Amino acid sequence: MEALARGVVHGTAGNMSLRDLESGLIAISPSGIPYPALTPADIVIVNDLGEVVDGRRKPSSETPLHSMVMRARPHIRAIVHTHSHYATVVSCIRPYLPPILTEVCLVVGARVPVTRYGLTGTPDFGESVMEALEPDSRAVILKNHGLVCFGDSFDAALGIAEIVEEAARVYVHALAANGGREPDLVPEELIPEMAERFRRTYGQAAAANEAMAPRAG
Ligand code: 13P
Ligand code: ZN
Repeated sequence: MEALARGVVHGTAGNMSLRDLESGLIAISPSGIPYPALTPADIVIVNDLGEVVDGRRKPSSETPLHSMVMRARPHIRAIVHTHSHYATVVSCIRPYLPPILTEVCLVVGARVPVTRYGLTGTPDFGESVMEALEPDSRAVILKNHGLVCFGDSFDAALGIAEIVEEAARVYVHALAANGGREPDLVPEELIPEMAERFRRTYGQAAAANEAMAPRAG
């Protein structure tokens, strides 16, 4: 409901999961139910192989993606997959979203990779994400499909989905305003030091806002 209210998802597009660190079980959205109609009873509990453990609904068709990423990255607690418009535009024209916006460089890194085309609703879709995933990835753009973001909380993953979509929006508009030529970008060599300073000094306290926390390293 929070993702819907913030405009991150719409209709039945996208899906999301949250892992309970103690049991390792994953709560995942059901397949094909419009967000406004969802109740807690519609959420499905799966294990890290994507097998249903509890719930009366069929889990998201992208359960293989969620379980595959959760298995490979024990620190990831939440996954948000969206069909955000501008991230999808970037997926159709570039191999990665370049460092267009300072904020996205600080929070996500210099480049957000775009996958090869993955077959939706099958393990191939998850594999296409795994091929693009770095150890500390916070977002991957899905070729001709959308975006997937990772966080240590649901709110963090949602925040990343918003920031990447905003960067993709600025990038597409900057390309158009620049006659299709590549716009000016954040100098990549400045990003590690800038991110480190941001991590040390920005805001009131280190944990004030998880979504604003820079990625490790
Ligand atoms: P589900 O409704 O099965 O989660 O599918 C939505 C989607 O985004 C497929 O990629
Ligand atoms: Zn999708």
